Amino acid sequence: MKTLQALKDSFGYSSFRPYQEEIVSAALAGRDVLALLPTGGGKSLCFQLPAVLGQGLTLVVSPLIALMKDQVDALQANGVEATFLNSSLDSDDAKERFRGLWRNQYRLLYVAPERLFQPSFMKSLAEWPVERVAIDEAHCISEWGHDFRPEYRRLIELRERFPAIPFMALTATATERVRKDIITQLRLKDPFVCIGSFNRPNLAYRVIPKSKPADQVRRLIAAHKGGAGIVYCASRRAAESVAESLRDAGIPARPYHAGLSDSDRSKNQEAFVRDRVQVICATVAFGMGIDKPNVRFVIHHDLPKNVEGYYQETGRAGRDGLASECVLLFSASDVAKQLGFIEEITDEVEKRVAKAQLRRMIDYGETTGCRRANLLEYFAEKFTEPNCGGCDNCLTPRELFDASIPMQKLLSTVYRVRSAGSASGRSATFGLMHHANVLTGRTTEQITRWGHETLSTYGIGKEFSPEEWQQIGREAIRRGLLNQMTGDYPTVDLAAPGAEFLKTRGPFEMPRPVAPRKAVAAAGEKRGRGSKGNADEAPYDEFLYEKLKALRRAFADERNVPAFVVFGDATLRAMAREKPTTPEAFLAVSGVGPAKLAQFGEKFLGLIRGSSTAPPD
Ligand code: ADP
Ligand code: ZN
Repeated sequence: MKTLQALKDSFGYSSFRPYQEEIVSAALAGRDVLALLPTGGGKSLCFQLPAVLGQGLTLVVSPLIALMKDQVDALQANGVEATFLNSSLDSDDAKERFRGLWRNQYRLLYVAPERLFQPSFMKSLAEWPVERVAIDEAHCISEWGHDFRPEYRRLIELRERFPAIPFMALTATATERVRKDIITQLRLKDPFVCIGSFNRPNLAYRVIPKSKPADQVRRLIAAHKGGAGIVYCASRRAAESVAESLRDAGIPARPYHAGLSDSDRSKNQEAFVRDRVQVICATVAFGMGIDKPNVRFVIHHDLPKNVEGYYQETGRAGRDGLASECVLLFSASDVAKQLGFIEEITDEVEKRVAKAQLRRMIDYGETTGCRRANLLEYFAEKFTEPNCGGCDNCLTPRELFDASIPMQKLLSTVYRVRSAGSASGRSATFGLMHHANVLTGRTTEQITRWGHETLSTYGIGKEFSPEEWQQIGREAIRRGLLNQMTGDYPTVDLAAPGAEFLKTRGPFEMPRPVAPRKAVAAAGEKRGRGSKGNADEAPYDEFLYEKLKALRRAFADERNVPAFVVFGDATLRAMAREKPTTPEAFLAVSGVGPAKLAQFGEKFLGLIRGSSTAPPD
């Protein structure tokens, strides 16, 4: 088939990723397309392959100027004629590119929206044989998205100017509202809509009780043996200090946050993208607009504010499809800290939304079910496999303990607190922390004010810390025994099944609550198989792999491009596994096309041949 041949010839791949084939054929049939694929899903290929198969020009609109050069370099390395226009070019260079455009030399032209609407440019565009328009990061057009860009709104003018040319809109943002917005704003006509699964099968998810986080981060990174990754921190100070502690441990790391100068920030980002530093310690600002396919881990040093952000940030791992892991360090005190920040929000609606989002995030951190299913549920996607094979809870289910008695203690405290309130005519509900304080016999201002030290359950729960009682309480909420009341302050009340439980007295099983300090050792032991995800890879010659990486580095430096423009990690590993010794065998490796065979084949083959005759000592 022609498309499969072009896939191999121009990109070196012999098969499509999920959904790519359908999208490409809809595009080739001249239809408008809306493609929603997760990060790393391979969206670019969906417009690049049709472009290669055509005779004219595909116009690619992208907001990420920094990425254009890398994308174009990668296309050119594959022998695909492509170029970009943006403000970074000097005028001679721009002129040269324009000449090429008039000659119909290019299959793809990348532009930023600002450039598009210069009147002279629109005029030229009308003269070039534009076959297709691809709008990358199409969610930028929607105010409901997380990255609205007003200049994207003007893309309607482009549509009006070129009503007969098919449009493709591509994004990794999923919500229904944004999706509809894109279709209306771009006036897509009977579009082929493809909504890919948001599951990232090559990512493994893990939550670790946070304790001495600097040590934890260091140990997690050491396990990746030089693999690159991002540590997300809630504050500049944390980003700085984690980076420093990593450097002290001999791990090349740099910070990235709003407190650095623009030039330091881009220097650090560049060093990371070009594989010159292993780890970037960043505040959430980092990642938008970086295209680094070989991020092997994303660690969250602090609790994210919401699940959507967490999904986006962890999504930066494993774009190349290789096994990567996402670790969240989770602690009760981070929850309290976040709640503290939320208390400072003055807008009531905003405050309520922030609290609900945080609660959903806590639910991810505490769930005893599959983390993948929990994440996907947030995007209204059902993950039905009983065991995902790539999260801590599926791989090593936590040990359950009989919590019937603690649950009785907790529920009857809730009941008594509530009755005491009604009896005094001052009806009120309280949060989990208050109940935990009553159970552990603490003296707080609130307990004294309400006289709760006289309740019969006061101080009967000293076997657990207040934090552990809160965990038991949250499990009770999840299982429907307690109702969580939404209000300024989340309070709890007995639900009907909880009242029933008090009569029948159990039974109730749950994972043992873990107080932050006690949990470290257990977390350390839980490493191991879990980190692979279910993209378990066949073994490869690691020694050869390192040598191939060094050769790739030399080529990349010589051309001043990121390493993945030469070959991706997945391709190098396939070489280190299959050890091709002839040009034909080299071409059969996934990610090697004729153009790369011609440019790099000889040197890489030489290295592989050499390695099989002289094994490492
Ligand atoms: P997205 O834009 O959806 O985040 P990209 O287009 O950057 O994803 O693609 C992610 C990675 O997947 C890239 O390294 C790309 O080369 C690779 N890729 C895309 N399509 C295929 C395919 N059919 N087979 C193997 N790798 C692919
Ligand atoms: Zn799972």
